Amino acid sequence: MGIGYVDGAYNRATGTRSAFDGLSDALEREGHPRMISLSGDREPEVQERLWYERMTLSPGGRKVYGYRWWQGQKWYQIHPDTVAPPRSSNHEARRSNDLKWPYNSDTLAARRAEELAPRFNITREGKNFRELWHWTHWGSLGRIETPASTGGTTTPTPAPAPSILKELEDMDKAVIVHLTVNKKTTWLLIGATVPGGYRATNAQETANAWAHIYGPSKKLKDQAELDVALREAKALAASWLAQQKKIHS
Ligand SMILES: [Zn+2]
Repeated sequence: MGIGYVDGAYNRATGTRSAFDGLSDALEREGHPRMISLSGDREPEVQERLWYERMTLSPGGRKVYGYRWWQGQKWYQIHPDTVAPPRSSNHEARRSNDLKWPYNSDTLAARRAEELAPRFNITREGKNFRELWHWTHWGSLGRIETPASTGGTTTPTPAPAPSILKELEDMDKAVIVHLTVNKKTTWLLIGATVPGGYRATNAQETANAWAHIYGPSKKLKDQAELDVALREAKALAASWLAQQKKIHS
């Protein structure tokens, strides 16, 4: 049967998926429960969003759970759950799964899983940072398959005409856009030279700092517009990078 996934969890790398399938099957054959992943791959933009939700440079009066250094700055954790800095997590590398009980704590099944795991190039990586549920595959990733969804109900809506790119034809510029959903605002700083094409924040103070440099933020009307902006941002950064390589090669 292989590893199972809760709604929204997935492994796109065939190598990672089949390694976990193999380990889960081996455990099942010995009478242990099937492995269920609560969280597998994380797309870079999701990891970034989590980071800005949970970490801040200026915690103010909020409860601080810890801190981490990222890009030379000290960030304060203002959410009870930890988060790895963007681009550093093995979830982003499409190698890790956070598993459900009994593979999330010190149980008989989990101990047996640890014994069998090396056969499948898997370790209980989370043991190193007190996250017993976090297991990682270190072998070949194989193919990265495109459908990122496991039974989700959303279908991608066709993109409306690009509107943000127009302002960015001058590649030295960057613009700020924002979207408010359920009273929560996300700001994006978009520009060809911004790594990956954009940065995202939910922190007003960060948005203010950006606005100080790049001018007022443009309001987006819905999530679809935000998705378009993200897609454009990535394409823009990729074409800028390609252009730079051409210039410098
Ligand atoms: Zn994890």
